[in-house]
Amino acid sequence: MIDTKQIRESVATICQKYGEEYWRNLDKKKEYPTDFVKEMTTSGFLNILIPQEYGGAGLGLKEACVVLEELSLQGAHAGACHAQMYVMGTLLRHGSDKQKKEYLPKISSGELRLQSFAVTEPNSGTDTTSIKTMAKKTNDGWIINGQKVWISRVEHSDLMILLARTKPQGALPKKTDGFSVFLIDIEQAKESGLKIVKIDSMINHHSCELFFDDVFIPDESIIGEEDKGFRAIMDGMNAERILIASECIGDGKYFIEKSVNYAKTRKIFNREIGMNQGIQFPIAECYSQIEAASLMVDKAATLFDEGKKCGAEANMAKMLAADASWKAGTTAMETFGGFGFSKEYDIERKFRETRLYQTAPVSRNLILSYIAEHVLNLPRSF
Ligand SMILES: Cc1cc2nc3c(=O)[nH]c(=O)nc-3n(C[C@H](O)[C@H](O)[C@H](O)COP(=O)(O)OP(=O)(O)OC[C@H]3O[C@@H](n4cnc5c(N)ncnc54)[C@H](O)[C@@H]3O)c2cc1C
Repeated sequence: MIDTKQIRESVATICQKYGEEYWRNLDKKKEYPTDFVKEMTTSGFLNILIPQEYGGAGLGLKEACVVLEELSLQGAHAGACHAQMYVMGTLLRHGSDKQKKEYLPKISSGELRLQSFAVTEPNSGTDTTSIKTMAKKTNDGWIINGQKVWISRVEHSDLMILLARTKPQGALPKKTDGFSVFLIDIEQAKESGLKIVKIDSMINHHSCELFFDDVFIPDESIIGEEDKGFRAIMDGMNAERILIASECIGDGKYFIEKSVNYAKTRKIFNREIGMNQGIQFPIAECYSQIEAASLMVDKAATLFDEGKKCGAEANMAKMLAADASWKAGTTAMETFGGFGFSKEYDIERKFRETRLYQTAPVSRNLILSYIAEHVLNLPRSF
């Protein structure tokens, strides 16, 4: 039996050492939490999913969820470091023994950072099977051409997982065939012509545009089977949805805790604002929704850890948790009134951060569409 209470307490201790001022300042300067990420790695939390034989903790997605939930609950921005966990769904399940032996011990120790996951493209967006970035086979490797957008943390990572086409669109009967996944050394790719351009955005997520212009990567970069990369990337994406859902649970709990404390102490009309049902009911509703969403996150993580199908549960967990955290964020803004807008209280920072999860890594509409088609067998709409 894993002691998740101890994981929570240890993560909380690290977070408290940094404090919310740390995140506020990084947000202001748009800087990366290098020290925090290093400490989370060397303390064994960001490599929690890596098997013990490669230097990790060898725990499951359920425990990884506990780490990210606690980070968010403590006011940290888990988005700065979560990718190292969710890319493991792809690398652990589909990487070769050679790749695992070469990379996992270095990722575990912090010598190599794997924080970047490159799927989205400017002209395909949500329609992942329409991506255009192409990897063409040469004698000793692959030549990559194309463009990616919103690729987060790439400037703070040594390695990147890339989804590219290895067959032109329509060349194979199955829409999801013809894609391959690659593990790329970012420095080497830059030397071969990869251009990285920062995107100035609403939250401190360190996202960039990537331009691949005849970028060479060696043969051994491919993860899993050629043309069958969609399955490998989906294992990463299901893990990503569940882990992000757990961040939303943490965000939701953060907003609720802050709202409750503020509502108990802020006095207007000579009484605590928390005495008003107009203030307490929305907070109570958020609490119930976070608790309910948390059950779905737990169910999805359990299925994932058991190696069972979890697409529907991962999607539902992400949607329910993101909706609950967004509602809790809005409720916190209401509870704090004008002070919610002040940077000093951190509510507006977290409010911006949690808004992302209505849209990324998969939008709400696309989740509803998935459930309608794949769970309820309704006709395809696209
Ligand atoms: C801060 C940030 C960080 C990110 N980090 C990464 C990253 O590290 N790696 C990565 O690969 N990507 C990343 N993304 C990209 C993210 O996953 C995409 O933005 C997201 O999947 C939506 O794609 P899009 O922006 O192209 O929207 P679009 O596909 O253009 O969609 C726009 C809107 O139309 C809706 N829509 C589209 N088609 C339909 C339909 N058929 N039915 C109903 N509604 C529809 C969508 O739901 C959405 O609301 C990041 C994005 C952001 C903002």
